[in-house]
Parts: sequence; C-alpha cells; structure tokens
Amino acid sequence: MQIVTSPEDEAFLNELRAFLDANCPPEAKPNRDFLGEEDAGIPQWAREWQATLFDNGWMVPSFSPELGGRNATPSQTFVYLEELARQRVVRSVHFGGYAIVGPSLLEFGNDEQKAMAPGAIRGDTVWCVGMSEPDAGSDLAALKTRAVDDGDSFIVTGQKVWTSYAPVADKCFCYVRTDPDAPKHKGISVLIVDLDSPGIDIRPLVQITGSAEFAEVFFDDVVVPKANLVGDLNDGWRITMGSLAHERGGLWVEGVVGAQRALEGLCDLVKRNGLGGDPAVRRRLGGLYERVESLRALGYKGLSSFAQGSSAPEHSYMKLATSELRQELSEYGMDLQGAFGAAVADQASDEGRWWRGFFVSIAASIGGGTSEIQRNVVATRVLGLPRS
Ligand SMILES: Cc1cc2nc3c(=O)[nH]c(=O)nc-3n(C[C@H](O)[C@H](O)[C@H](O)COP(=O)(O)OP(=O)(O)OC[C@H]3O[C@@H](n4cnc5c(N)ncnc54)[C@H](O)[C@@H]3O)c2cc1C
Repeated sequence: MQIVTSPEDEAFLNELRAFLDANCPPEAKPNRDFLGEEDAGIPQWAREWQATLFDNGWMVPSFSPELGGRNATPSQTFVYLEELARQRVVRSVHFGGYAIVGPSLLEFGNDEQKAMAPGAIRGDTVWCVGMSEPDAGSDLAALKTRAVDDGDSFIVTGQKVWTSYAPVADKCFCYVRTDPDAPKHKGISVLIVDLDSPGIDIRPLVQITGSAEFAEVFFDDVVVPKANLVGDLNDGWRITMGSLAHERGGLWVEGVVGAQRALEGLCDLVKRNGLGGDPAVRRRLGGLYERVESLRALGYKGLSSFAQGSSAPEHSYMKLATSELRQELSEYGMDLQGAFGAAVADQASDEGRWWRGFFVSIAASIGGGTSEIQRNVVATRVLGLPRS
C-alpha cells in the first residue's frame, strides 16, 4: 500500500520513481531485510550515490535545495521514505551526518558550523556521534569524558563506546563534561573533534554478525580549539535532545516496511518448504500480518496528526514495536528451518537472512534508546503515568 494524498504528492512520487530508475546503482538496493548496517569502510558507489541524491534534491527532501532537498511537505517526506523502504534503497551507509549532525549543526551551530551542514548531508565529510560511554548509555547524562578549559582550547580526556562509523569518520560530534560540579544534565557541552587529532585511539568492535562498523574511541589529552564548541558552554543537554529527535523522526516507516518485507519472505519460505497447509503456521503468519498492518495504520494515524501540525505520540511506540516485531519475524524464519536455520553460512541467501536479521534486529532494539527506555517513555509521556 502506498498513501498518496494529493495530485502534487502523486507527481512527487512519479518524479522520485523516475529518478531512482535512472540513477540508483544496484549496490544501493541490497538483498536483505535490514538496511543501514554496513561493514566499516565507505565504498565509492556509496559516496557517489549520496552525492547524486544531494545534488538532485533527493537526499533529505524536506530541506532546501542548498541542503540536498526540495522543500518537500511532511506528506511528501513520508511518500519518499516509504518508497525508498519499499524499493530497499539505501541513501547512505553512514546516517550520522545527514540524520543527526547536519540537522543539529543547522539548529544549534554558529554560522561557520552551519556551513559544515551541507558537507555532512552530502557525505563529503563523514561524521560519527560520540554520546555513549561505558557507564553512560541509557543514562546519557552520566557521561564522564572531560573537556578542561585551557585558554584557546579544551583538553579532552575520556572514552566513548559503540561509536558508529568512528573507524571511517573524519569528525566526531562529541558530548563532553565541561562542568563536573554542576548537576549532571547541566555540565555537558558539544565539541566538534577532528578524528586525526593527536591523542585519539579508535578500536573497532566486531559484532556477532562479523561487521565492525562501530568502535571504542579513546581521548588522551586531545586539544580541541574553542571555536569547535557547538552552542553555549554547558548547554549540551538541549543539543542532545535535538540530536536524538533528529535520529528518531521517520524511522518507523522503515521499521514497518521492513517488517512487511520480512513477512513476505516468511510466506515464500513456508511455500518453498511445503508448510503452507499447516494450520499452526497459517495461524501464526495471519497473526503476524495483523500486527504489521496495525502498526502501519498507527503510523499513518500519527503522520496525519503530524501533517496537521499536532504532535504524534503514536510514533514513540513505533520504534519499540517494529524492532521487537522484526526480531520475532526473524526468529520465526529460523524456527521454520529447524536446526539448519541458525547455521547457514551465506548471510545474504534466502535461508541465511533470518539469523542475520535476528541479530541485526537485536541491535535495533538497543541503538537510539533501548526497548525498556522506550517503554518508560510510552508510560510517562503517552499514558501519563508517574515516573517511578
Ligand atoms: C547498532 C548500534 C549503534 C549505536 N551507535 C551509537 C553511536 O553512533 N553513538 C553513540 O554514542 N552510541 C551508539 N550506540 C549506543 C546506544 O545508544 C546504547 O547502547 C544505548 O543507549 C544503551 O546504552 P548501554 O548500551 O550503555 O546500555 P545500558 O544503558 O547500560 O542498559 C543496559 C540494560 O539496562 C536497561 N535499562 C537501563 N536503564 C533503564 C531504566 N531506567 N529502566 C529500565 N531499564 C533500563 C536497558 O534497557 C538495557 O537492557 C549504538 C548502539 C547500537 C546497538
């Protein structure tokens, strides 16, 4: 299903399809269910494709043309995200720059920093986001990496972890503690750190899928010019909230379309394995179909509120629900294959996609806020329950 609400949106969709038909390289349509998860390294096709999207106003359509967009409306943005997800098109293999850092620089940076946003969105500069630390993940405000005033510079010392794309990034949008005596939400600032500065050690972390796109990043007396402070000193918490909102907006579309594709893959698997007549299998697939379509309807409801200028509390629930549903879909794909299901070597094959999808979907229920934290958000901000 594709929601198109007006002739303008239909023209927009047709133009997008024509552009993709003419320009999208085959590598940007990987044959797997979970997008945006790449090995370290940015292939040349990905650099060129991101630049082509930007130059043609298709990188972030809601932005102005100078920022890689075409001033698209909220409903057109949705049409765009849904079509990309439906065709399995990957815009970029490093989302930090266009989805988090670029918008944050535009919102909070000075003129010089705002001028760095187009390069972040086009992918000319590769960014990573340094928030999490060994003792500060869900409780991000507990971060300890220190930035000490040293005249024209800050001296940064500490450690980040799970820093996506750090092994290939040029710069880090780094959250540091600049006032250790202030209450924990009030002593945080954001610095732009060049990753080739002396004193930085980046150690890739290999995941269970074999990928190593994120890393530990160690800072040992790293000198960062004061001009690299984003926003006001000790006002980093406000930027944190802005950055996370940029990261989360629109993710539900990919979540729902990915779940739909996984369900279609399960139906193919069942037919291939001759299980289509089994009543238990049919009942389970029917239940999964009902959940995918309910989530889609909830997403559309939220989109309709959002397009009319209201907030969309439904979307707080979507990341939680879609990431957990995709885990269940992948696990069922493994179950249907018996013991063989968890032992297929070729991850991209029709059989191997299920265990790989399962592990990747676990990451999706942690990154950007764990399922437990999302449940807390739903409890307090959607249901209005008191904080425990
Ligand atoms: C694929 C991926 C990419 C990532 N990329 C980045 C990145 O680029 N930059 C970056 O800075 N970070 C990144 N992260 C880190 C991510 O933001 C953290 O893993 C996440 O915030 C959770 O923090 P944690 O791992 O420290 O777990 P913890 O916060 O230590 O949580 C451990 C467990 O306790 C639970 N828990 C914690 N607090 C509560 C609570 N109040 N109520 C109920 N349960 C709770 C959690 O849900 C979890 O199950 C990435 C993570 C993943 C998986």
